[in-house]
Amino acid sequence: MLDRYNRNINYLRVSVTDRCNLRCTYCMPESGIRLLAHEDILNFDEILDVVRVAVAMGVNKVRITGGEPLVRKGITDLVRMIAGVEGITDLGMTTNGIMLPKFAGELKKAGLHRVNISLDSMDPEKYKAITRIGSLQDALKGIDAAIEAGLTPVKINCVVDKNVLSVDTLSPHSSAGKVKAFADSKGLQIRFIPQMDLHKGTFGEVIGGSGGHCASCNRLRLTPDGMIKPCLFSDLEYSVRELGTKQALLMAVENKPSRGSSSQKSDFYNIGG
Ligand code: SAM
Ligand code: SF4
Repeated sequence: MLDRYNRNINYLRVSVTDRCNLRCTYCMPESGIRLLAHEDILNFDEILDVVRVAVAMGVNKVRITGGEPLVRKGITDLVRMIAGVEGITDLGMTTNGIMLPKFAGELKKAGLHRVNISLDSMDPEKYKAITRIGSLQDALKGIDAAIEAGLTPVKINCVVDKNVLSVDTLSPHSSAGKVKAFADSKGLQIRFIPQMDLHKGTFGEVIGGSGGHCASCNRLRLTPDGMIKPCLFSDLEYSVRELGTKQALLMAVENKPSRGSSSQKSDFYNIGG
């Protein structure tokens, strides 16, 4: 489906929970978050309905995200349901990887194609400081589990300072440079995401990926509580429960802004980046 600016909207990112087993400094406030009430969170049938209608309208790429998607109870069943929708050519998940040793095999069997795993540092102390509670060892085990299960190509997401503009300007001794060396040693693709601030409207293009480039943005987002958001950096959102799925999707496409500005209502942990 084409929007007003002739962009072909074919990519839906589905955030399945606002909960997470980590507390990354750039994503969650230290004071914790006010979690959505159980009844506000879409159930699996409602999520499936949004995916089905979106695919019927032209979406062929779906990514499951969160919060941490693997903490949503029954996630493998949801993946299986979504994978069964005819017309999806690319079904991915973004995860911090911590729970992949438990889930990678069953996710692959359920029909997930591939995973992007977040990894910002190869230094155990620094990894713990960034995630506030995470263990680097666990994240690395998750990456190995994904490779072993064949959730490929496994891609690494690495959040960097917004002043890093290209891979060439990365010092091999920098934190990101060491993550790159690790990814290279495993033959994994890596994408550097400039640290963004939704509220202040600071964003930049993903290095080695496709995010953050407004003129070619092909995305819609579904929040855990059933809002279709046409842009990460905007407060526009359309409720599938109030408007009906098709109308919410149509309105999101019709009103997708030409470029992002800022969002006061949302946070990364509920929209999923
Ligand atoms: N929990 C999963 C994970 O961390 O991969 C999925 C959700 S997380 C919100 C999705 C992506 O958003 C991650 O790669 C994360 O690094 C990124 N992210 C979170 N906060 C960000 C920020 N302030 N600026 C840029 N990227 C951010
Ligand atoms: Fe959790 Fe991902 Fe946000 Fe880190 S970036 S706090 S892992 S949702």
